[in-house]
Parts: sequence; C-alpha cells; structure tokens
Amino acid sequence: MLDDRQMKMENSAQSEIYDLIVVGAGIAGLNALNAATDYLPEDAQVLLLDQKEAAGGMWNTAYDYVRLHQPHPMFTVGDMKWDWRKPSDYLAARDEVRDHLVASLDQIDQSVALTTAFGHTVTHCEEITTDQGPLAEISYHLNGTKKNTKTVRAKRAIYASGLDYALAEPQKLSSQNIVSIIPQDLYSTLNAHPGAPVYVVGGGKTGMDTILATLATDPKRQVTLISGRGTNFINRTKYIPTGLKRWTSGELASRIFRDIALQFDGDNEEHTVAHLRTVYSTDPHTENGVFLYGLQSEEEYERVKNSLKETHQDYLMDVVDSSCGPKMKLRGGANAKIPRNSIIVNCTGSFFRSEKWAGPSPLVSQNDCILSINPRNAFHFLTSVSGFFATHLLYRGLLRGRGFYTLDLETLFRKNRNAWVGATAAQAYLNQVTSVQTLPLTLLDRCGLDLDRWYPLPRRIAGLLRMKAGAAKDIAHCRRALDRVADRFDAHGTPLP
Ligand SMILES: Cc1cc2nc3c(=O)[nH]c(=O)nc-3n(C[C@H](O)[C@H](O)[C@H](O)COP(=O)(O)OP(=O)(O)OC[C@H]3O[C@@H](n4cnc5c(N)ncnc54)[C@H](O)[C@@H]3O)c2cc1C
Repeated sequence: MLDDRQMKMENSAQSEIYDLIVVGAGIAGLNALNAATDYLPEDAQVLLLDQKEAAGGMWNTAYDYVRLHQPHPMFTVGDMKWDWRKPSDYLAARDEVRDHLVASLDQIDQSVALTTAFGHTVTHCEEITTDQGPLAEISYHLNGTKKNTKTVRAKRAIYASGLDYALAEPQKLSSQNIVSIIPQDLYSTLNAHPGAPVYVVGGGKTGMDTILATLATDPKRQVTLISGRGTNFINRTKYIPTGLKRWTSGELASRIFRDIALQFDGDNEEHTVAHLRTVYSTDPHTENGVFLYGLQSEEEYERVKNSLKETHQDYLMDVVDSSCGPKMKLRGGANAKIPRNSIIVNCTGSFFRSEKWAGPSPLVSQNDCILSINPRNAFHFLTSVSGFFATHLLYRGLLRGRGFYTLDLETLFRKNRNAWVGATAAQAYLNQVTSVQTLPLTLLDRCGLDLDRWYPLPRRIAGLLRMKAGAAKDIAHCRRALDRVADRFDAHGTPLP
C-alpha cells in the first residue's frame, strides 16, 4: 500500500516523467535498480513497483525451510555485505534471505529519490514515441482492483518480474486415505500426523530440502523418495571448499562453467550432463539424468542416502485405494502398497509449470528505453546476474553490438532440460567472457554474485588471465553451440545487434 508521502508523489507522477521505473523487487530487480543508481543523480525520481507487500520476491512465499544452496555472501545486491557475522559458508534460511534483500533496498533508498509502490500489479509496459522522444509507459493498479489504473512514463524502465514462481498444488491423487500436501504445509502436517511415513515426490532441491527438514523434525520418520529421472547436484564440499582448501583445492565457478560449455556442442546434451555428473556431482556413479544447478554437500548427500527407506527412480502417477489399503502407481508400471495416512509431498518443481508461457519480449526495446529480464530473450539463466550486468551495460551504452548472446531459455527448458543445461552454461560463459572484455575490472569486482569470489584473489587473477587468453576461441565455440541448439529447438538465439 502507498503511504501519504508516496501518494502525494504518485499523484504528481501523472504529469512528471520518472528517470527510472523498476518492476519487480526480487533479487533481479534490486540488482538492476542498484546498478542504475551508479548512473543516476541523487535527485533522480525512481519508482519501484511490486505485486508483493515487501521487497524480496519469491523469498516471501517460498516454503519456510528453504535455504540458500550457495554461501550467503554471494547472494546479494551489487556488492552489499550481509549485516551479520556468520561464517561465510553459512547457508541462509528463507527469512534471512528476504531480510537481507529488504535491507538492501533501504541502502538503495539513500542514493536516489525512491518511491515504492508495493501491493501493485503492472499490466502494461511498452516503449512509446512522444514529443520528448522515446519513453517507457507503464500501467499499474492496486492488487485486486483495476478501477484506478494509473499510467506513468519514464526515461527508462527495467522489467524484472521473475520466472513466474508459483506455489505448487498438492498432487491430485485418487486415494482418500493419504494426505497430499505442498512443502509449505510440511511442518503442520508432520505435527498433525505423528509417525506417518513421508513420500517425497521429486528429487531436486525442494525434494532434498524436504527430506532433510523431515528428518531434522523427526529422525525416526520413514521417508521414501520418488525421484523421477534423478537429479545431480554439484558437490559443494569439493567445489566450495573451506579454510586452507580454498587455496589448494576446488575450482573457480567460471572454470566449471567453461568446462561444461566446452563439452556442449549444441547436439550432445546427454553427454554434457553425464560429464557433469561424473566430474562434479555428489553421486558420480548413479544414472541420475537431470541437473538444475543445485549444490549439495557430501554430508547432506550421505544423510539423505543413509536415511531413505527406499528410492524409486520413477514418476508417481496416482495413489489408489484397494482392498489392502492405498497403492502407489508408478509410470514405469510398478505398484507399491503404502501405509494409510502416508504424507505425499509435491516437490516436482516451481518454474515453467503452468500452461501459460511468458510472452516473448526483447531484452532491450528498440530505443533502449526498456530492459526486460525475461526467460524468452534471456541474457543469463540467473536473473540476478542479468539484473547486474545488463543494467550496467545498458547505462554505459555497451549492451548492443558486442556479441552478448540472448536465448529463449523457456523454450529450451520446456522442450529439453538437458539441452537447457548445455545452453545455459555456454551462454553464461560467453556473456561472462564478453563482459570481462567490455567492462572495467573495477566494476567487475563489484559483482557480489560472482561465485569466483569464494577463492583468494591470486587464484581469481590467475583465472581471469586464463579466461582472457582463451577468450576468442572459447567465444567462438559457445557461439557455434548456441546457434546449433537454438536452431534445433526453435529457441531464438542471437547475438544482440
Ligand atoms: C525454492 C527455490 C529455491 C531457490 N534457491 C536458490 C538458491 O539457493 N540460490 C540461488 O541463487 N537461487 C535460488 N533460486 C532461484 C531464484 O529464483 C532466484 O534466486 C531469485 O530469487 C529469483 O529472483 P527474481 O528477482 O528473478 O524473481 P522473484 O524473486 O520472483 O521476484 C520477482 C518479483 O516481481 C514481482 N512481479 C511479477 N510480476 C509482476 C507484475 N506484473 N507487477 C508487479 N510485480 C510483479 C513479483 O511479485 C516478485 O516480487 C531458488 C528458487 C526457488 C523456487
């Protein structure tokens, strides 16, 4: 809701032109907003709009036991420090992440004249031609009523609406004798059904979090995993080592991305994921077929493995009641009896679940008024990284004509997740190397999201020199792989003209 001060500013906004409007106060929008403040004067009029009642984006609504899977210092806005003294490998919990993002917005508030309009939905964002030149035009209304829709204009707008993170629904299962829930209801359901076995459907990050949260609450609970194709996780113990090992072991994230990118030729996604599994994962000997950039420590892996009653590498189709109790039906044809009152937790993923695709919109509009961090013309699979780099590049006039590659990641994800893995690695590496060639080191060093920062400076400098030395050849490889994969899946990939 707008307060009085905001309301006053809002009413005068009809006639004035904002310097910048940002849609979305998640980590992507906040990184974009923070980057833009480098180029805006202190009295710049900036409007930040979000449907939610506070900053933090999906960290306001994700399940309560979710934690970051990377060290918290690298999940931030610009290079803002977390306001606490926890060990740097501490994995922050949901509310801690949200609080950090809210505190980041407070810091940004000091550098421009910021108006926030939380609880508002944006319905329209378009570049228009006016007497004063091209401008961004945005319409928005208070959530729940379109009556007082407002239309405002700005010299620039950044649209960072996220990847449509939607709460899952409990799985619709025929049995009347089981409890089907979503992760948001885990703790209350465990309390209400002491001793009931838990079936975790989905072997990704949410599934792992759910297993660990269940066991932390009740170590004796029987937990079964139905893991689909099975998910591979990068070994955090090995690749985010602690103490002296930061000097002697592990590998820079940029080198891992390079390795995956160079494995991928645009056609060989199964090979690329197999390489990832055998070299980088916590479980190199399985046949797990999926990878979604999740990290897992060896200790977490062992805890999950040793405590699971059973794992079915299959898909749950239904649970039906039979004369001998509820029976699970799996896609592969197997049927398995399960105890009455079993708890089935839907952990099958949060992104691109709905039938509705994001509309295609260019990364930048014709006259560079609107930067759109969207999955159909994506700059990087991590929206936070896009928010940082694309905004700096846009304000410096360096986004176009440098070879930065945009790609329809939503199409790839929906059509072939392993092709998405190869392509996201190739795109991330290509755009990172191109950024290194384009932006000053002093600015690159202010990207707090950069996982290479985990390692001591000398290792990072050595990595940077190697990156620069191989740049031309590596970029050419990534470009070929991306052109090929975009062509195969009709995923519109192109260097930004
Ligand atoms: C369960 C889960 C765990 C994750 N864990 C990690 C992790 O450990 N590490 C990591 O790096 N990433 C993780 N991610 C990925 C995560 O998506 C990103 O980290 C990041 O938070 C996404 O930020 P965002 O700003 O793009 O989107 P969001 O956080 O979704 O923010 C977008 C904002 O835009 C607003 N918005 C959207 N449409 C409109 C509109 N029309 N009008 C007004 N406002 C609008 C939304 O209300 C929202 O607040 C996780 C994702 C999930 C789902």
